Order: sequence, then C-alpha cells, then structure tokens
Amino acid sequence: MKSLTISLKQKFLPRLIHRDGGFKCFYCNQILSSKRFSFDHLNNNRTDNRLENLVLCHQSCNIKKISYLDYQIIAKEKLRKNEEEFSGREEKNPNTHFDYTSEIGINIGTYDIVESYLKNETTTDGHVLFNDALYSIVYLCKQKMGHGSEQAVRRHLNTLTSSVAPYLITRNESNQKIIVGRPEN
Ligand SMILES: [Zn+2]
Repeated sequence: MKSLTISLKQKFLPRLIHRDGGFKCFYCNQILSSKRFSFDHLNNNRTDNRLENLVLCHQSCNIKKISYLDYQIIAKEKLRKNEEEFSGREEKNPNTHFDYTSEIGINIGTYDIVESYLKNETTTDGHVLFNDALYSIVYLCKQKMGHGSEQAVRRHLNTLTSSVAPYLITRNESNQKIIVGRPEN
C-alpha cells in the first residue's frame, strides 16, 4: 500500500489523456496546464492506484472536491464506469467496451446481452421459451444499461434466429414458440 509514485504517474499520464479524451480537468473540463495539475483518486483512497481510480484535474478542483458534493457524485459515477469498461476488456470482447449513454452503445450492448442470454439458456436447458427470453432480456438490459427496449430485443432475436444464425425458432409440444440452437450440418 503506497501512494502514487513519480514513475507510476509517468506511466499513467498518457493512458489517462487517451482514455478521457485529452489533457483536461475531469471536474471542470478545462484544459490543464502542465505545471499545475493533480492525479485525483476518485474514491479518495490515496493508496488505491488502479488506473480506473485515477483522473487528471486541477489542484484547485481536487481541493474543491473535498467539500463539493457534485464533484464527489461525478467521481463515484466515473469510477463505476471505468471499472465496467475495465471488466469489459478482461472478457476479451472488444464489443463490450462501449458507452451505454449513446444510442450505438445501447444497441451493441443489447445485442451482446441477447447473444449471451441465448448461449447460456440453450446450453443449460437446450431451449428457451421465446416470450420468456424476450422479457428476461429486456429486464437484463434495464439492469445492466439502465435502458431496455422490447423492440430492439425482438429485432436482435430475429437476427440471431435468421437462417444463417446459430439459433432457430420452433415450437414445443405445447405449441409454444421456443428458441433452440441450430443443429450443425
Ligand atoms: Zn478543474
């Protein structure tokens, strides 16, 4: 457990600039000067030197954060987002590295959730009821991204059960619509 060393700062600086889109203050968004900036620990734990826990900012903004609730709230949110993106990279899937606040991010996120849901369910049970899949996935999207669209999930389910895709829609003995893995040729 130690505080941020000069060599860590040198190593992290270009990565933080790249990750956060420039040499600017995380809190007030102004461009930083190379002399007077700080590395802020988002969770205020000065020994937690993970890249996800660090942002660049003005010394003055860093001090302001101590008593300014708004800055503490955006710090907490930023740490959560960084951790999420970091765990996305760990899964080695570049598609999970996205921004859930943009339309394209939500769309890619929805697709990934539909795909992994179908994979899990059909591996475990061999099949899943179409309607159960649809509404479970909408729920999962809301949980994970704060946004879930039945229409979007339906569209991705159709894509993943199209004739070239790994799943297909059929009916069970009770005539309910089910999704199963497409048998390999
Ligand atoms: Zn600032």
